Amino acid sequence: MKYWWLEKYTELEVRMLPELFLDIQFFLTMPKNYLQIYKKIESLPISTLSEEEMCIVLYYISVTKNVKNNHISQIIERLLLVPDTSLPISDYNLSEIIHEIYGLKEKKAMVDQMDSNNVAACYSCLNVFYVDQITSANRKGQCLCPFCGKNKLYFDNELIPMNYSFLLHSKIFYGITELGCDFSKLKKIIKKGITIMKKSSSKGINTSKKRNHFLEKYQKKLIKSEDESQIIKKIYDSLFVTERNGDYETTLIIDWEGQLNLFEISYLIILSCTLALGNFFYLKHISLIIENDQLRNQTEKVLRMLIKS
Ligand SMILES: [Zn+2]
Repeated sequence: MKYWWLEKYTELEVRMLPELFLDIQFFLTMPKNYLQIYKKIESLPISTLSEEEMCIVLYYISVTKNVKNNHISQIIERLLLVPDTSLPISDYNLSEIIHEIYGLKEKKAMVDQMDSNNVAACYSCLNVFYVDQITSANRKGQCLCPFCGKNKLYFDNELIPMNYSFLLHSKIFYGITELGCDFSKLKKIIKKGITIMKKSSSKGINTSKKRNHFLEKYQKKLIKSEDESQIIKKIYDSLFVTERNGDYETTLIIDWEGQLNLFEISYLIILSCTLALGNFFYLKHISLIIENDQLRNQTEKVLRMLIKS
């Protein structure tokens, strides 16, 4: 399912609302004019709204915290029926990924190419969708995203990866973080902000509560594309706990025994940390303790390449 993160809210209780609102704001990116769109659709029955419109209503509720009616439950129910649109993880290595991201800006999705393509991806809101969902374009003839209204689209014929981590990396690269950091600033931030350590060099750190057991299940099976957003969100959430406490630094322990997915896991770890450092106000430093030598080497390699890219 595309909106897997809404699943835990099917039995919605009032105490869950703050977390739901945070999740909505993490996963949904709105068009600039979403308030105007909301005003047009606010009195329509939920059952008649499109996926994009339901996202707008949900986002509006999360911002205004106005939950008088049962709209939320109805929307969650309908969005959970939307099938997963994520595409397979690309088998590109990091330098190929970075090369493609560099070239993205030149590759605009033009209206006259729509007929020869099936799928479009947006690196502003990270949606992947069929081209027939595109209904508007700007004056230059560039297609606009049906979810966020931006022209950050590319088509499948370009043969550029369209998986979640690629889209997220592109989003970060083009400076679409909460703090408005562009990638050159972020490179400095992650250079200063992420330290990778062996356990032996980290004595004295109280690490009892910061182990990431959710990664365990990926040690023995291959990561699929729908896992990417879950892994990133879970690491981001564990970092968010520190942010909410107003802490300047935190330590994450990555328990890892498997030999599978070393590149994917290290890439996702660094991307989640980058996202947190780019979006959080207080958190400035993340220590990663990785006992598995191979995973640690791989993670150091990913970090080095991102810093110099
Ligand atoms: Zn979009």
